[in-house]
Amino acid sequence: MSRAIYLYNTASRLKELFKPIHEGHVGIYVCGPTVYGDAHLGHARPGITYDVLVRLLRNLGYKVRYVRNITDVGHLENDADEGEDKIAKKARLEQLEPMEVVQYYTIRYEEAMKALGVNPPSIEPRASGHIIEQIALIEKILEHGYAYISNGSVYFDVEKYNKDFKYGVLSGRELGEMISNTRELDGQSDKHSPYDFALWKKAAPEHIMHWPSPWSEGFPGWHLECSAMSAKYLGEEFDIHGGGMDLMFPHHECELAQNTAARGRGGVHYWIHNNMITINGKKMGKSYGNFITLEELFTGKHPLLQKAYSPMTIRFFILQAHYRSTLDFSNEALQAAEKGLKKLFQAVRDTDGIATDEKASDAGVAKLYEDIYDSLCDDLNTPVALSYVFEAVNVVNKIKDKSLQINMAGKVLLQKIFKDVLTGILGLQDEQASGADAATIGGLMDIILKERQQARSQKDWAKCDALRDDLAKLGIRVKDTKEGSEWSLE
Ligand code: ZN
Repeated sequence: MSRAIYLYNTASRLKELFKPIHEGHVGIYVCGPTVYGDAHLGHARPGITYDVLVRLLRNLGYKVRYVRNITDVGHLENDADEGEDKIAKKARLEQLEPMEVVQYYTIRYEEAMKALGVNPPSIEPRASGHIIEQIALIEKILEHGYAYISNGSVYFDVEKYNKDFKYGVLSGRELGEMISNTRELDGQSDKHSPYDFALWKKAAPEHIMHWPSPWSEGFPGWHLECSAMSAKYLGEEFDIHGGGMDLMFPHHECELAQNTAARGRGGVHYWIHNNMITINGKKMGKSYGNFITLEELFTGKHPLLQKAYSPMTIRFFILQAHYRSTLDFSNEALQAAEKGLKKLFQAVRDTDGIATDEKASDAGVAKLYEDIYDSLCDDLNTPVALSYVFEAVNVVNKIKDKSLQINMAGKVLLQKIFKDVLTGILGLQDEQASGADAATIGGLMDIILKERQQARSQKDWAKCDALRDDLAKLGIRVKDTKEGSEWSLE
């Protein structure tokens, strides 16, 4: 932990030196997806951004506990605590049990993240598994006088809270302005003020997801789960809270207010927000016809896509922009990224074979190595870090065409840049190498099955069975048919 890391803190609007609460340990909480549909581009950016942050911290020697939740209840169709629960709606439309929807899309989300090289979090808690903790938190907020019960529902009293603390710290909003911009309540609402938000909602008779509580048979408000689960797994005070910029208000603002109302302090030391993705300059949204799922990107099956883009192309493209800048997706930009990535891994593969000369210097690689770490530690500046990685690529190419020489120490450091930084921290994998692996396995299986076919024709059943059993131990299943043998990975 010799290197200092600077992170931009949304709460202070400053880049601050990162100091963890407990020496050598870091607790991170990131708001995960609401699992009612396929993972899309909007999920890729936070997934990759916080994955790189966690990888960097671990690389620097910190022990990291990374909590990323799954929202499976309470996220209503609009932010005014109205409309149907997104998961319940999907379940109703598809005639499924809500938890079937949750299970199906959670697995799809995890698979998409894995394809993008995103490591799984240390803990992945679900909101519906923490109803008891959420009820206890509401009781505390009520006890402290910052919430009220209305017709079986419980609402957070924003005005009262704003008098004692300040509401709007993260988003820089003033309650007065918010009041003038909020539409009037329609008289049907249980809320005292339109900007109050639900902690507990009484379930309407048609609402299929509900739990008993002291106030009503109902369900928790969306913002509450993160206050409850972050404290449960990371403590009431923890290091880093991340999420997309679109979550800053109202989700994180409400989370901060709940924490403070219940515990007298916000509890989060560094708030971090990744910026949004646009497509051909437009915000991504179902209503704009430019909503692209990750599967569509990987297969190219979307009218806006000229071709399929591999998961590593997407990852590389996302890392070419700083996480706090907006990022525009277009076919041209993705194809340029694809080319850049190919060039990068060609150099990585060439590095092992380059010649060294002890009369030469390290070709400036030690400085590049430091520059890469300095940029990553400067609020995760991945585009600058990647530009230095490309300088390392240029070094490899110059050595290859003999216009530059390098000593052994320099070569070892080049390998370290590619292994520790490119693959280890930035999480980029050589897709061509894994493709070659698949081809190699295919070729090997042809040889083995030919051998086994020969044993079959000689009626050497013992050898046939032994080969089949040995392959089964490796997870390769062999099926004999009239035409010969087929194999598949289990
Ligand atoms: Zn959250």
